[in-house]
Amino acid sequence: MNQFRKSSLISIIGSGLGGLSAAIRLAVAGHNVHIYEKNSTPGGKARSIRIGGFRFDSGPSLLTMPFVIKELFSSAGENINDHIKINKLDILCKYFYPDGTVLNAYGDVDKFSEEIKNQTTEKKENLLRYLAYCKKIYDLTSDIFLFRDLYSLKTFTNVKALKTLFMAGSIDPFRTMNKANRSFFTDERIIQLFNRYATYNGSDPYHCPATLNIISHVEYTLGGYYVSGGMIKLTDALYDLAEKKGVKFHFNSPVDEIVIEGNTVKGIKVKGEFKESEKVISNADVYNTYNKLVKGRKSKAAKKYTALEPSSSALVFYWGVRINSENLEAHNILFSGDYKKEFEELFQKKVLPEDPTIYIYISKKFSPGDAPEGEENWFVMINAPNGNYEFGIRNYELIKKTIINKIEKLTGYEISDRIVCEKVMTPRDIEDQTGSFGGSIYGISSNNRKAAFLRQPNRSKHYMGLYFCGGSAHPGGGIPLVLLSGKLCAEAIEKSESSA
Ligand SMILES: Cc1cc2nc3c(=O)[nH]c(=O)nc-3n(C[C@H](O)[C@H](O)[C@H](O)COP(=O)(O)OP(=O)(O)OC[C@H]3O[C@@H](n4cnc5c(N)ncnc54)[C@H](O)[C@@H]3O)c2cc1C
Repeated sequence: MNQFRKSSLISIIGSGLGGLSAAIRLAVAGHNVHIYEKNSTPGGKARSIRIGGFRFDSGPSLLTMPFVIKELFSSAGENINDHIKINKLDILCKYFYPDGTVLNAYGDVDKFSEEIKNQTTEKKENLLRYLAYCKKIYDLTSDIFLFRDLYSLKTFTNVKALKTLFMAGSIDPFRTMNKANRSFFTDERIIQLFNRYATYNGSDPYHCPATLNIISHVEYTLGGYYVSGGMIKLTDALYDLAEKKGVKFHFNSPVDEIVIEGNTVKGIKVKGEFKESEKVISNADVYNTYNKLVKGRKSKAAKKYTALEPSSSALVFYWGVRINSENLEAHNILFSGDYKKEFEELFQKKVLPEDPTIYIYISKKFSPGDAPEGEENWFVMINAPNGNYEFGIRNYELIKKTIINKIEKLTGYEISDRIVCEKVMTPRDIEDQTGSFGGSIYGISSNNRKAAFLRQPNRSKHYMGLYFCGGSAHPGGGIPLVLLSGKLCAEAIEKSESSA
């Protein structure tokens, strides 16, 4: 670090992956960084759950864009291979359809196109044409939407250029994802498979813009990955790296206020105690930051953010199962019979779907220590509406029965008598444990085609010294994006220091 550069006292609210990413970069740049976390462990949504001899990743299971993590380690002068082992998935996901079709989505495009040809009526060439189209959208948008601060002067001209692309339709913003996918494929099973990628940021394929088809490019062309030992190893590695670089952690330390005088941030209050800070980064949900932590101010920003539609939530069952499921992979999807109806229920009616699509993640498939001999750790998730907590207790047994019946029907595995232990995470639990508004997993939804421009920027335009990172800030939710948000946030602070 340049000895004449100013070192700031920076407080970060929350130790989610976005907060850890920002902290590491700022500590490496020589700042005095403190993280205040209300929980007793780091990671936010990416933690571990233990029940007896079973270990579960609490939230994220699939890793994409690992180069973002590699760059984070190298920015701190470290080699990623000395900290975690990231491996490419051969089978990204195994799909089970209500009509009995079973389809392996291979990470290798040739193998996947062969599988599609063999198991469905879809043509190989359609997949290749589709992935080329998804790549084009990624190439046109990623640099500006993902890797840069949308609001810095430097990118302003690029944003203008992007708006031109947007208006000209080159990034496919005017069709819905579903409509675009129907223009490439005829087999309903393949349309449903690619429509599913809207859920990767908590959106609805029948409303979100086709621009989000970049997600398919990320998974099929850039690849899907897992971390040896489970996703918790990523959290652990980033926590260790942050400590090594001098970040100070304060656990069990809920922040109850961001103290602002005039329009300038002065610090935070933790359990009523004032902690002076020159900069404050909120890794907490943007909605809750404006409505709960920035006390007594009804700013324009708060009003704007409150009016936006949150992304979907989830209902997760963590089951220890006495089974050796040779026919399941690490990632499995059991599709619903009527996908459109499922999203109407989630986003318009705001109820749990009658026939939900079920995701089963079994980390024991690559991390044998996660369950005892002869047993497996099943993370069983369905999408849930944001903010509707009603079903939490009332319909619990019914939902569980529906899920078990469907698993038994589509996979052939009788599990009802084999569940040896259970823990449940509802949308309310997600809100309680991580502070996400209404239990939303990915901040605001992308159902509005302008969502990318509406997301909270990494630097507040309203309060000097207030910054944001994490899933509800730019560029959005999901592991690689929140790590990038930490990077953009740190860069914005560094820029403000050098211009001060
Ligand atoms: C069920 C589920 C499945 C998912 N699957 C995937 C997946 O497969 N792949 C993928 O890439 N992503 C997935 N995600 C999304 C991914 O987990 C998140 O985008 C990411 O982990 C969020 O990181 P974040 O930086 O936004 O922080 P968060 O994880 O939201 O953490 C925020 C932290 O701030 C703390 N905090 C909040 N308010 C305060 C306060 N007032 N004072 C102190 N601390 C506070 C919270 O306790 C928390 O620790 C999934 C998420 C869930 C829940």
